[in-house]
Amino acid sequence: MADPIRRLVQELARLPGIGEKTATRLAFHLIRTNRQQIRDLAQALVDATDKIRLCSVCMNMTEADPCGMCTDPRRDGDTICVVATPSDLIAIDRGGHFRGRYHVLHGLLSPLEGIGPDDIRLAELVRRLGAAPGDDAGRPSGAGAQIGPVREVIIATSPSVDGEATAMYIARTIKPLGVQVSRIATGLPVGGELEYSDQATIARAMAGRATM
Ligand SMILES: [Zn+2]
Repeated sequence: MADPIRRLVQELARLPGIGEKTATRLAFHLIRTNRQQIRDLAQALVDATDKIRLCSVCMNMTEADPCGMCTDPRRDGDTICVVATPSDLIAIDRGGHFRGRYHVLHGLLSPLEGIGPDDIRLAELVRRLGAAPGDDAGRPSGAGAQIGPVREVIIATSPSVDGEATAMYIARTIKPLGVQVSRIATGLPVGGELEYSDQATIARAMAGRATM
């Protein structure tokens, strides 16, 4: 295999869900595609990664800060659903059963992989609840975001070992702030990923949540 193609295969194979075989197939498809289409693809990649950032309130990916969900007045600002990833947020929101706001952690605590509380967006959640120690401002500065007192935080991390450990840690951290903390019911298969769960399962897990 020529070196440029080998490099392309290597880069493609780094993407989630793409193995060596698929990467090779994609690479050979791409080098046969017309030049303009390839330039458009490359430009779309650059634009998406340049323009998308994290919402300063909920940490979800957005073009506008604060994001549309944080500024939507129809969403109930007193309930926050905490998820591990933006895809989990999409999975939960798709069903339309939950009309509160979200907080994206961008990961789960994992002592085995050396991922600690400072490696996920937990401090931002604490700050959002208005009680970061030594932080007088308390509230995020995002203009236009509908931020009221938060009554309940629903932790919707997966029922895997890391997901449970993360939920426990968050509950311990934010309960002293006077907020009700609940955990989605374990209607999800153990270790199952939220993003692959069907809507009925997610709705059941949300409805059956229990106070931690
Ligand atoms: Zn937001």
